[in-house]
Amino acid sequence: MKPSSFGYHRASSVSTACRLLAELGEDAKILAGGQSLVAMMAFRLARPSDLLDIGGVDELDYLDVGPAELRIGALTTHHRAEKAQEVLTDNGFGVIARTMPYIGHLPIRTRGTVGGSLAHADATAEWCLLAELLDAQIVVTSVRGERIIDAHEFFFGFFATALDEDELITELRFPRPAPNAAVAEFANRHGDFAVVAAGVDLDVDPAAGVRAGRVALAGTQPVPVTIAAAGEVLADCGELTPHLVDACVEAAVAELDLTDQADPEYVRGVARTQIRSALWSAAPEEVRSR
Ligand SMILES: Cc1cc2nc3c(=O)[nH]c(=O)nc-3n(C[C@H](O)[C@H](O)[C@H](O)COP(=O)(O)OP(=O)(O)OC[C@H]3O[C@@H](n4cnc5c(N)ncnc54)[C@H](O)[C@@H]3O)c2cc1C
Repeated sequence: MKPSSFGYHRASSVSTACRLLAELGEDAKILAGGQSLVAMMAFRLARPSDLLDIGGVDELDYLDVGPAELRIGALTTHHRAEKAQEVLTDNGFGVIARTMPYIGHLPIRTRGTVGGSLAHADATAEWCLLAELLDAQIVVTSVRGERIIDAHEFFFGFFATALDEDELITELRFPRPAPNAAVAEFANRHGDFAVVAAGVDLDVDPAAGVRAGRVALAGTQPVPVTIAAAGEVLADCGELTPHLVDACVEAAVAELDLTDQADPEYVRGVARTQIRSALWSAAPEEVRSR
């Protein structure tokens, strides 16, 4: 199938993009890497009146990494984050680079962007899971000014976000390093969207061991979710034993709301294996007790 007809506009700066978005109205769509939108247009699942191509807005293509914070421009590709493994790892953000290979295939990662993934908000998207897991903030801009939205408040439901029609995502911010974090996921074939992806972030003290931990899941519900019951098991646990990992996994899957799933028990089983795998991967050697 071919897309329905549309107007085409290009912006080369954030200010021009915001002005055009305001002028073009609610039926216009931003075109970034095109890896989700073009397919949706070809199937006529999306019929924008106009496309605003932001591919030339170079000011949104950056990865600004420091020891306390990571800022990623919305037009940065998945592959750029993947290639930055060394500098991200040195600054405690290595989990981001290590998660990128789960996204589609290399040609998709060389074109698909961070901002496009967040705006598209697929229930299994790795960027959305990372944002939820690591307390990220999403910076959005329009002619009305800038807003900074916590990831926990950004994702609303299937393909639904807190973005207003005239707003452009400009940046994804990770406000703290996460040196002991990992993502594990299962997909039916290499390069497919995940069935379930699990993220774990552990707060490890050199003397006391694991002080706190977070488990977040993508694919089980319409938006990525943090599983509170798993965090309660990990609080001040010191070290990860097989018994503790079992308890954490079972507490997490017991809390899942799988009412939207065609086969809840299958999804629960996949969640079990991925949480377990992410827990062991996130834990540094000194807090593992097998
Ligand atoms: C075969 C295949 C496999 C894939 N597998 C995965 C996978 O495993 N995991 C995964 O996460 N993704 C996967 N993807 C999707 C891929 O990651 C896309 O790159 C991503 O979802 C969208 O990014 P994009 O830059 O291509 O956005 P586009 O397709 O250009 O746009 C997507 C949506 O976001 C909006 N948008 C884009 N940029 C902005 C912005 N800055 N501000 C506001 N709105 C914006 C657009 O208007 C549109 O609604 C896959 C895609 C394909 C084709």
